[in-house]
Order: sequence, then C-alpha cells, then structure tokens
Amino acid sequence: MATEKITLSAWEVINDQLWLVWSDGQEGSITLKALREACPCANCAGESDVFGNIYKGISLPKTDASYRLVRLDRVGRYGLQPRWGDGHDAGIFTDEHLYALSVSTA
Ligand SMILES: [Zn+2]
Repeated sequence: MATEKITLSAWEVINDQLWLVWSDGQEGSITLKALREACPCANCAGESDVFGNIYKGISLPKTDASYRLVRLDRVGRYGLQPRWGDGHDAGIFTDEHLYALSVSTA
C-alpha cells in the first residue's frame, strides 16, 4: 500500500454527478444522491459512544431538493463541504472518504 497521502486535484459537478480527479491520477465519480446518502455529519451518520452504539438525529424526509447541490466548498486542504437544496450543510467529506466513495464505485 502506498503511504503517500492522496489528495483531491480537481472536481466538477456535471448534471447529477460529482467528478473527482486525484493526485495519484485516478478519476472517479459519485452521484449527488449517493453523496447525500453518505453524508458523514453526526445527524445523518450518527455518533457512536464508547460501546459502539450509534445515535442518530431525527432524519427528516428527503425531497428532491435534498439531493440538489447548491454549492460545494473546499474546506482547508482536506475535504469538501456540500450545501444542499434543503439547507443541509453540516457534512464535511474528507478526501479519504471521497476517494473511497468515488474509486470503489468506478
Ligand atoms: Zn448530514
């Protein structure tokens, strides 16, 4: 396994897909729906206690707006923060997370 950290080189949203280009030359894509479903924020993904129990917040029913990307911001040098049509923007996807999502589904 390579130990060099893989980082995001470029990204672009085309229709309902987020395309990602990585520092190792690989490219991948994630549908916006899959991206939203993979939201890592405490409310969507839950927080686990020391016993491994997962606590989730109240999940509101998602609408079409929930899967519409309003904006996508780079956070520091480590991740992307999407803002969705329903106002949800609590999830920050790290590069490692995005890489796993985009390359594994390719
Ligand atoms: Zn979330």
